[in-house]
Amino acid sequence: MSTKLASQWALKILFLIGSIALISLISETRQTANSHSIAQQIAPVGNPPPNLLKPPKLKTSPSPPVTEAPKPPQQPLVFAPPAQFRSQIVYKASINNSKVIALTFDDGPSPETLKILEVLHKHNAVATFFCLGANLREYPEIAKRVVQAGNAIGNHSWHHYSHNVTEKTASDEIDNTGVHIYRSTGAKSFLFRPPGGRLNNGLADYAKKKNYVVVMWSIDPKDFLQPPAAAIARSVLSQATSGAIVLLHDGGGNRQQTVEALSAIIPKLKQQGYRFVTVPQLLQMQAGQKQRIANQKSP
Ligand SMILES: [Zn+2]
Repeated sequence: MSTKLASQWALKILFLIGSIALISLISETRQTANSHSIAQQIAPVGNPPPNLLKPPKLKTSPSPPVTEAPKPPQQPLVFAPPAQFRSQIVYKASINNSKVIALTFDDGPSPETLKILEVLHKHNAVATFFCLGANLREYPEIAKRVVQAGNAIGNHSWHHYSHNVTEKTASDEIDNTGVHIYRSTGAKSFLFRPPGGRLNNGLADYAKKKNYVVVMWSIDPKDFLQPPAAAIARSVLSQATSGAIVLLHDGGGNRQQTVEALSAIIPKLKQQGYRFVTVPQLLQMQAGQKQRIANQKSP
C-alpha cells in the first residue's frame, strides 16, 4: 500500500469515528431534553418536585409546634374615674388605709417628657400626664410612650387658653384634644385639668358637661417658675400626705429642675412607705374604700 492510500484510509476512519461520536451526542441531548419536559409535566412551574418536599432529617428531636394564644379582642384603653367622680372637681383623694400619691405633669408631651419617663421607669413609678392637643399633634410618639409605660393620660385643652371661651370654643379645645389623645395613644380619657387651674372660663364647665372629672391638685411646688430642684423637692416632701395630687410640668420649656427634683422626691417618699399611682387608680382606691365602709355599716 502506498503512503497516499494509507493516509486516505486513515482520514476515512477518523471521519467515521467522528460521525459516530456526533450521532451519540445528539441522541443523548434529545434524551435529556425529553426528561426535562417530563419533569415539567409532573411538576408544573412553581411547585418543587415531590422529592424536594420531604423535610430534611433532623439529628435532634423536633421541637413541639408553636401554638399562638388567641388574641383577645382589642378594647380601647379608657382612663375614666369611678361614676361618683364624673362631672366633679377633685383636689385630692381621701385615702386612710394606705400611703399613696399621684404625681401629675402638665403642658406636654414634649422632648422633656422623655426625661421624666426615664426617672419614673428607674423608680418603677407611674404618673398622670395632662397633655395639650397642640403638643399631641407635634409629638404623638412621645404620648404613645407615656401610655405604653403604664401612665395615665388626661386632657389639658388644645391652646391652654386662660380667657373666657364660648361653648363652641370649649368644645373645639377639649374634643379635638380628646381625638388626638386617641389617635396618638389609642386611649380615651375622661380626666380634665383646666389650664392655669381656672374653673370659671368655660372650659371646666364644658368638661363637666361631657362627664370628665376635673382634676385639680393639693400640692403645687410651682416648678414652672424653674426654682432650684432642691426647692421643688422640699415643697413636695413637706406637704406629702396620702391621697395627695402633685402638680408638676413636663412641657413649657426646660424642665431640668423638675427632672432633678423628681429623682429626689420619688425615692424619699418610697422610703416613707408611699406608692405612686395614677389619678384614676387613686380615685378608684377612694371609691373602693367608701364601698367597704358602707358594707361594714350595713346589717
Ligand atoms: Zn398648664
